[in-house]
Amino acid sequence: MSTQKIAIVGGGLAGLYAAFRLHQAGIAFDLFEARSRLGGRILSTASGSFDLGPTWFWPDFQPRIQALLAGLDIATFEQYETGETLVERWPIGVMRRVGYRSGNLAMRIEGGSARLTDALAALLPPGQLHLDSELTAARLDGERVQLALLQPRRHTLEANYSQLWLAVPPRVLSRIVFNPDLRESERQRLAAVPTWMAAHAKYVARYARPFWRDQGLAGNAFSSIGPLGEIHDACNTEGAALFGFFAIGAMHRRTLADAELKARCRAQLTHLFGEQATTPIEDFIQDWAAEPFTATEADQAPPGWHGMHDLGNVFESVWKDRIRLIGSEAGGDQAGYMEGAILAVEKVLKRLA
Ligand SMILES: Cc1cc2nc3c(=O)[nH]c(=O)nc-3n(C[C@H](O)[C@H](O)[C@H](O)COP(=O)(O)OP(=O)(O)OC[C@H]3O[C@@H](n4cnc5c(N)ncnc54)[C@H](O)[C@@H]3O)c2cc1C
Repeated sequence: MSTQKIAIVGGGLAGLYAAFRLHQAGIAFDLFEARSRLGGRILSTASGSFDLGPTWFWPDFQPRIQALLAGLDIATFEQYETGETLVERWPIGVMRRVGYRSGNLAMRIEGGSARLTDALAALLPPGQLHLDSELTAARLDGERVQLALLQPRRHTLEANYSQLWLAVPPRVLSRIVFNPDLRESERQRLAAVPTWMAAHAKYVARYARPFWRDQGLAGNAFSSIGPLGEIHDACNTEGAALFGFFAIGAMHRRTLADAELKARCRAQLTHLFGEQATTPIEDFIQDWAAEPFTATEADQAPPGWHGMHDLGNVFESVWKDRIRLIGSEAGGDQAGYMEGAILAVEKVLKRLA
């Protein structure tokens, strides 16, 4: 155990949770993150702490994330769904429908989902968390793994890791050069795994108060007209907001400036919720399909289904005992969810024991 030193690549929930667990167990590690921030797909707005990535977890079937949040003393609350739901259909227009409830109990994290990744990062030695460090190549030297990293204005080499834990979406791994190279069958299996929600973009509009609640509305809306296809109440203790997922595809979004997209979203919210929606205090767009460390070309269209992928034994080559996949997409029946990230790490930790 003492000669182990793990290189974790990716500083989203999976990478940070792995680092947290290794740190607790006294196992040496370094974490390398390509972006200048931690959190990966977890991102909350700097002002207002509204979620631009994941919003919900479902404790009925996601016990791990609930336990982790409780262990870190992070408060949670139920998604607001009191009141009627709006349905917008062409050519009928807007209809009010008796309340919609999202099947299982949907919970949110107080202070935004980034509270979770911030809390994990705060418990780790800062000197072992390397931002602006993109893994570009990995080389196997006997039993040790060497990494080539692209850091601002320079290439560096980090050597002497016993294992490489990849907390990166499987498709994004195609940009990394492996020496010896991965087998074609290994590459194909990685490329076949869509990155959950990578094709999507979110819009958040912040208001002085949740005026839709006064009208007996839950803030939920479903539209086949757009630009937002699904809208929900995003209020938290810091303020009032609505958020929506774009129904406009990633390729089309690329042709439109943010100002144009925001104007269309405000017009839709006004049409649905009334004049008070016209002038948010501020609004935000986060387009995940345009983020190279989340989405590849293959992720520009959503997969249409929430697939499960057995990524436990992808590596059959010389990398078999050296690489572990710990990102959310390796999370078995919870693949793609935050719960999946925790589950994937726990599976790998069991093999280490
Ligand atoms: C819009 C949206 C809504 C979502 N809603 C929900 C929800 O409501 N509930 C839920 O449970 N889940 C939801 N998800 C999914 C959830 O965000 C993910 O399951 C989870 O955050 C994935 O964590 P991860 O650490 O596995 O991957 P990521 O968060 O993708 O982290 C991977 C990290 O690797 C880094 N990286 C990539 N390439 C390299 C490289 N070469 N070198 C170094 N670092 C690299 C990236 O920068 C990133 O930080 C949503 C996602 C999105 C985008």
